[in-house]
Amino acid sequence: MKAIAARGLVQRFGQRAVLSGIDLDLEAGEALAVLGENGSGKTTLLRLLATAARPAAGDLRIFGLDPRAERSALRRRIGFLGHAAGVYPVLSARENLEFFCDLHGVSRRRAGELLEEVGLGAAAGKRAAELSRGMLQRLALARAVIHAPDLLVLDEPDAGLDEQGRGLLASFGRGRTLVLATHDRELAKDLCGRSLELAGGKSGPRPRLEAVG
Ligand code: ADP
Repeated sequence: MKAIAARGLVQRFGQRAVLSGIDLDLEAGEALAVLGENGSGKTTLLRLLATAARPAAGDLRIFGLDPRAERSALRRRIGFLGHAAGVYPVLSARENLEFFCDLHGVSRRRAGELLEEVGLGAAAGKRAAELSRGMLQRLALARAVIHAPDLLVLDEPDAGLDEQGRGLLASFGRGRTLVLATHDRELAKDLCGRSLELAGGKSGPRPRLEAVG
């Protein structure tokens, strides 16, 4: 079964079509880079694939399920990192991850393991608000994978990450389906076997799906 099967996905804001008919098939375990200039619709597409928004038209199946009917079941299988870190600034790094463990019914032990894995063991007691940008992004990544999702959707996750932090993207992407929006073609090449290039505007050319090269 395909991880993602999208036909004619359209998204509009007011009169303006930001996505005007996206077709996409992604096998389980494949990694897709979503490329394109600012405003070309990368975030908009990723939000649809993460079931954070609904398309105006078109058909979308994720692991064979329709997000309109089975959003909560799907949410358990999807990890999403958007532009916001999605963590609570006043809670410590550890408290944040423990909170999300509880939310997903995952043992709190996983919070400790992930803090070590993302290199925040020593900073676990710091409030999220006090973390550097790169550290916050590491915490956000840990939050996105806390429930061991089958599909990981990452919107410009390299923002603020150093080389080591980028290595986390590879390890967290391994063994799952990955959709990653980035401006960094090297990163796209390193992590993803395929790319989807979006061109902005209502009547932009059809997006191209091709091997990253
Ligand atoms: P990218 O991620 O490639 O920079 P986005 O998906 O964020 O592009 O945005 C694509 C276009 O859609 C932009 O012109 C943006 O202004 C517009 N847009 C995005 N979200 C909204 C929204 N909630 N309401 C209105 N316009 C939006």
